[in-house]
Amino acid sequence: MSPQKRTRSKLASRVDNTKLPTIDKVSALPEVEKLVIEDETQGDEEISPGDAIYVVPPGFENEPRPLPPHVYWKMNVESIHQEGAKRWVIGTWYYNRSQLEAQLKEQKSKITLPPMGLGELISSDHQDVVDPQSIECLTAVDYFNDESPHSDIADAWYYRLSVELKGLAANLTGLNGHCICVQWYSPELDVQRFCYDCDKWFHIKCLTDPQPSEGETVPLQEKIANMPVVRGALGKVNDEWRVAGSGRKIQRVKIWKEAGVFPEDWAKELGDSFITYVKRTTFSFYACATKDCTRRI
Ligand SMILES: [Zn+2]
Ligand SMILES: [Zn+2]
Repeated sequence: MSPQKRTRSKLASRVDNTKLPTIDKVSALPEVEKLVIEDETQGDEEISPGDAIYVVPPGFENEPRPLPPHVYWKMNVESIHQEGAKRWVIGTWYYNRSQLEAQLKEQKSKITLPPMGLGELISSDHQDVVDPQSIECLTAVDYFNDESPHSDIADAWYYRLSVELKGLAANLTGLNGHCICVQWYSPELDVQRFCYDCDKWFHIKCLTDPQPSEGETVPLQEKIANMPVVRGALGKVNDEWRVAGSGRKIQRVKIWKEAGVFPEDWAKELGDSFITYVKRTTFSFYACATKDCTRRI
C-alpha cells in the first residue's frame, strides 16, 4: 500500500485499497471515453464519465446477483483510465444517510443530518479508484431541486445534499429552509403546498383556514389544472410522486390545455396512482402563510 495524502488518509476508503493503485497513479494514466461492462442478464452496458454506477461492496463478491439495490455502493464516474488492457475508474461516492453518519462520527464532525427520503443519497467529494470487475451496472441518481415546484425525479435514487469530507472539517451544502418556519423538507414526514406568488413551499401544519374547493363535477383535466401543488407524506396514494410532488404534472396539464391538445394517453402519462388520487380527493385550499400574500394554496 502506497502512502496517501494526509487529507485522504482521514477518509476510511470504501474499496479495498490493498489491491488497487492510488488515485494519483491512475490519474496519470491515459484517459479513455468509455468502458464496456459485460452483464449476462441485461446485456453489455457502456459506462462514461458522468454516469452513476452500482459497485459491489467488498465481501459481497460471491453473493448471488443481483443484490438488493440498497446494498450496492453508488458512485458518480469522473474518469476512466487505461493501463495496457486493464481499465480503472475514478469516481466520487454517493453516501446514504447511515454511511455518512458513520463517516461524520469518525471525523468528529458536529454536523447533524436532517430526516431524509427513502431513495435519498448525499453527493460527496470522497474519491476512490474502482476496478471495473466490481462494477455491477449503470444506475441513475437524479439531482432534486427541492425549492422548485416543477422538479421531477424519474428514478429511485436522488440527491440534494453535497458533503465535502476532504477538508479539515466536513461541510454540508444544499440544506434549504422552507416555509415561514424555515425548516427542511422531509418527504417521509412532511406535507407541503407551493405558493407561486411567494415562490415558496409551506408545510401544511404551518397553514391555516382550509376551505374546500367548489365545483365537484368539473372535468378531470380542469380539476388537475386547478389543484394545489402538493408534495410529501400523503400515504400510499403518492408513493410514486411523493418526493417531487404534483407540480410537474399540473404544469404538463396546463401546457396541454393551452395548446388545446391532450395526448391520447395523457392520464397514463401522469400515472395511475396520481389520477386515482385526484379523482378521490376533495381539495382544501389554505391561506398562504406569508403575511401579505392573498393567494390560497
Ligand atoms: Zn413550516
Ligand atoms: Zn404566498
